[in-house]
Amino acid sequence: MITIDTHTHVNFNAFKKDGDEIIKKSLQENVWMINVGSENKTSQRAIDYAQKYKEGVYAAVGLHPIHLFSIESLEDENNVEKFNYQKYLKFTQQNKVVAIGEVGLDYHHFEENHDIKSIKKLQKEVFKEFLKLSQQTKKPLIIHCWDAYDDLLEILNDFFKNNKIDYEIGVIHSFIGSWKTAQKFLDLRFKIGINGIATYSESYDKLIRNCPLKDLLIETDAPYLTPKPLPRDSRNEPINVKLIAKKIAEVKNIKIEKVIEQTTKNAKSVFKI
Ligand SMILES: [Zn+2]
Repeated sequence: MITIDTHTHVNFNAFKKDGDEIIKKSLQENVWMINVGSENKTSQRAIDYAQKYKEGVYAAVGLHPIHLFSIESLEDENNVEKFNYQKYLKFTQQNKVVAIGEVGLDYHHFEENHDIKSIKKLQKEVFKEFLKLSQQTKKPLIIHCWDAYDDLLEILNDFFKNNKIDYEIGVIHSFIGSWKTAQKFLDLRFKIGINGIATYSESYDKLIRNCPLKDLLIETDAPYLTPKPLPRDSRNEPINVKLIAKKIAEVKNIKIEKVIEQTTKNAKSVFKI
């Protein structure tokens, strides 16, 4: 049985030395993955990895909102990029690219010297361009959203009002809102992405219990967010996605095989794998 890590970053520098080893190890364990880009370089690297493997490795391409402005606390992980529609359109046309992401809004990383108003404006403008790209290419979105669910919903509701969305629209990845907020995204036919954060406390048990299994995707967000019981500061990797399935199985009081079977089905349907 195949398990799919729908959001991982073997394409990031944390795996620069052993990315292929990590991928091969995962494939041997029947764990497939989507490597998600966050800017030009990591999007390209996600494509390169995907095209190198016959099966089981896929790519998403996008410009993460934290790469639109400079953030001191993130130092070298934060090269700033100017959005270029044509460049990302070309990326989406590459073989094995199954989604647009990660893209979205991030109001969490603002610092004292930031012009918050204009950064929010820029993030919204770029995100709307990615919605346009999704509409043009019919590729699903992998949405990152931190401290900005209200603004995100406003933009998405507008988008749904003005466009015919006749394709799988994608996922709210690393969802950390309430069950009530989740339902607003489910109404728009988004899936909810669950990762290691759900293993750190019982805060998300209500969401997991209530959210139908057909609407959930599992992910690691490796190298970050290592799930319990592994040490929090150890490097996360795609095979640990099985621990996310285990957590969901425990909360829903069902067999882990059932969680894996259904979430794999969900992932294959959203990403046309
Ligand atoms: Zn990510």
